[in-house]
Amino acid sequence: MLQDLPAKSKPRYTIAMNAFPDLRLRRARRTPGIRALFDLEIPDPAKWCWPLFLVPGAGVKAEIASMPDQFHWSADRICEAVEPAVRQGVGSVLLFGQSDRPKDNGGSGAWDERGPVQQAVRALKRAFPQLTVMTDVCLCAYTSHGHCAPLRPDGALDNDAACACLAKVALSHAAAGADVVAPSAMMDGQVAAIRASLAEDGFDDTLLMAYSTKFASACYGPFRDAEGSAPTPPPGAPADRRGYQASPANPRAALLESALDEQEGADLLMVKPALFYTDMIAALKARTLLPVAAYNVSGEYAMLIATARAGWGDLRDLVRESALALTRAGADLIISYWANRYDELLA
Ligand SMILES: [Zn+2]
Repeated sequence: MLQDLPAKSKPRYTIAMNAFPDLRLRRARRTPGIRALFDLEIPDPAKWCWPLFLVPGAGVKAEIASMPDQFHWSADRICEAVEPAVRQGVGSVLLFGQSDRPKDNGGSGAWDERGPVQQAVRALKRAFPQLTVMTDVCLCAYTSHGHCAPLRPDGALDNDAACACLAKVALSHAAAGADVVAPSAMMDGQVAAIRASLAEDGFDDTLLMAYSTKFASACYGPFRDAEGSAPTPPPGAPADRRGYQASPANPRAALLESALDEQEGADLLMVKPALFYTDMIAALKARTLLPVAAYNVSGEYAMLIATARAGWGDLRDLVRESALALTRAGADLIISYWANRYDELLA
């Protein structure tokens, strides 16, 4: 015990811990230059991933009403969309899609090799070979009921049939040239099913980013508007996704989801949403040696936009502070709708 030592052998810090005026923490905050010596930095654009929304058709660039400054793009204009982000050094994009094929129970439009996502992957890899192209792998934008899995006749979700469908989607994206496939359906066994299918077809180098700890969140509203993927269940089917996405009130089960995805062969894990779940990012980072992505979702984006538009906060300050929150929590990759405005808001 320090207090038992003779006074002259006590280290100085035991005295200094409480000793104003000798100890003045403001010294290290006094100037921007001094603060910069000690502060964390906002990650380089290479550590950011920009999500984009593909729609069928040609010549389409249409602003998404619930996500200001984000657009629906047709595949023929995707390179035009992504070029400014590439110019700013943004390292990756994450593609979501819709199909012009009729929606069905299994979401078969999702693995159409002529679908907007598959076309966009091919175009982007041709135009920007160095850009890392990721694809969301799910069914909900393609199923007639909006769930992330086919429904059985009794209205229950068919988990194992979903895994087979998701594997087909992932294969179609890998075949188009996607560097990373990212299953988001939260079905049990989906990562193992996709990993096995990729291996069987020789896609050994395709990375698998699991939406491993994805919560049933109220922050997805603007995204569902953008993707047309809000559940519209028939009688007998679940009304929402709480039956498969992680409960915000059960952090242990949420972390177990990530642990299982790691065992099943994921290369990257993810926490989604991000800002409401920085404790989960930190907890997951402490438990895994895999990279951890944080998905800063549409509702979190919309909150900052709304605050700034109301004149209640400065957008650049808000965005930078939120980026630091994710960095402190330990995010290795930030998936965010701010990525394409990196130079304006984050540099
Ligand atoms: Zn889904």
